[in-house]
Amino acid sequence: MKKYIMAFDAGTTSSRTILFNKNGDIVSSAQKEFIQYFPKPGYVEHDPKEIWSTQIGTAVEAMTKIGAVPEDIAAIGITNQRETTILWDKETGEPIYNAIVWQCRRTSSYCDELINKGYGEMFREKTGLVIDAYFSATKIKWILDHVDGAMEKAKKGEILFGTVDSWLIWKLTDKKVHVTDYSNASRTMLFNINTLKWDEEILNLLDIPKEILPDVRSNGEIYGYSSDKYLGGNIPIAAAIGDQQAALFGQGCFSEAETKNTYGTGAFLLMNIGDKPVKSKNGLVTTIAWGLDGKVNYALEGSIFVAGSAIQWLRDELRIIDSSEDSEYMALKVKDTNDCYVVPAFTGLGAPYWDQYARGTIVGLTRGTSKYHIIRATLESIALLSSDILKAMEEDCGFKLKSLKVDGGASNNDFLMQFQSDIINADVIRPKQVEATALGSARLAGLTVGFWKDIKEFNLKEGDKIFKPEISQEERKSKIDRWHKAVDYAKGWARD
Ligand code: ADP
Repeated sequence: MKKYIMAFDAGTTSSRTILFNKNGDIVSSAQKEFIQYFPKPGYVEHDPKEIWSTQIGTAVEAMTKIGAVPEDIAAIGITNQRETTILWDKETGEPIYNAIVWQCRRTSSYCDELINKGYGEMFREKTGLVIDAYFSATKIKWILDHVDGAMEKAKKGEILFGTVDSWLIWKLTDKKVHVTDYSNASRTMLFNINTLKWDEEILNLLDIPKEILPDVRSNGEIYGYSSDKYLGGNIPIAAAIGDQQAALFGQGCFSEAETKNTYGTGAFLLMNIGDKPVKSKNGLVTTIAWGLDGKVNYALEGSIFVAGSAIQWLRDELRIIDSSEDSEYMALKVKDTNDCYVVPAFTGLGAPYWDQYARGTIVGLTRGTSKYHIIRATLESIALLSSDILKAMEEDCGFKLKSLKVDGGASNNDFLMQFQSDIINADVIRPKQVEATALGSARLAGLTVGFWKDIKEFNLKEGDKIFKPEISQEERKSKIDRWHKAVDYAKGWARD
């Protein structure tokens, strides 16, 4: 009798392994950070071998902690930092360069070149993405162009490319399986989300040989089995999915208009838009949420650069709170913000404003404004920025948001969640178990091998907290109007 599903959560700063039981509860976990390399300003790299060794290390540790043996584990599901790019030698298994991390900006000027040559629309049509250094395509090109002999070997099929999911599967199966999944493929900027194929025209334009690319598979199927070298047995590897899409699945957003927001350092919103891609008019990206049983589900994605980090700013720069958690009771010391608005546009504004010259602003200060008002206004800004993206998503796809599922560190703030519900006039649902990302990949793997029979088993759980809207439409409208006025003051500030 199999007892557990094992989730590999291959994050940006650490590798984690979590074991879930049949009830979806965490029964064991282990985590290990790995080194972040910053070889030049704006460059970010990881050592692929360290990603692998920490991942397999935490898997062994999580099993050992509870005395689990391979026979106890029904399947492995993988979720991973997306877009991060690894190229390795097919024969030796040695990476030919460090992993270039999603945050790395080294290919920005090449991306600008592509935009200036007018390729933006073509990429948007085919890949659903906005041309950006963030995605894998230009990172692959950079490695092929900068590592001696790489292009030649790639053309001969001696080099393989993969995002972190592919790399881990290839290592875990002892070089047998070179695959990726729809969600990760859709973040490479090489994958056509309409035809569900690697796009020849884009590959030619970027001079990337097709030979290096993995096969693209569904998000729930057995890709292969773990080699018994590593975990002492052959466990089916039965799911892979990028982290944000995994959170969408883990949060149970299985049908159209269901949406999740992860409130971490930044905030990531994804809305399930069903089986047809829509093109955003508001600069959101269209991506594949998952492909299962021959059907593909799409999502609209929007992100907020500064969310929880605005609370860190209150703590570390303004020093008006001692910890992020304190922001909640401090905000509740006043009954409103006294018409004060904080726009935390520290690095510009993303969707739907797209103003890289916007900068942080506090408006509406009076002699009576206290730190409590500013703390409250900063928390409110996270919800207001999220609300702007949700509005843009509704506009793009024509659905009305039903409810918002939330996770991430700042979702523990009850004041913020209540205000979020008030502003969007919809329920905000916070699961008791906020490990949505790992749970998403575990659920997919569990469904694949029959550990769980049906998504109906994943309904709302005891302990999930629901925040319901409590303010009047008039109050809501006034708050949003004032916010938009405040955003106008923040725009364009850094333009010469
Ligand atoms: P990440 O995965 O991006 O590292 P986490 O999900 O761990 O982020 O969340 C950490 C962020 O959430 C930090 O920016 C922190 O300031 C913020 N945060 C954590 N707890 C709270 C809280 N109770 N209220 C407001 N913000 C919080």
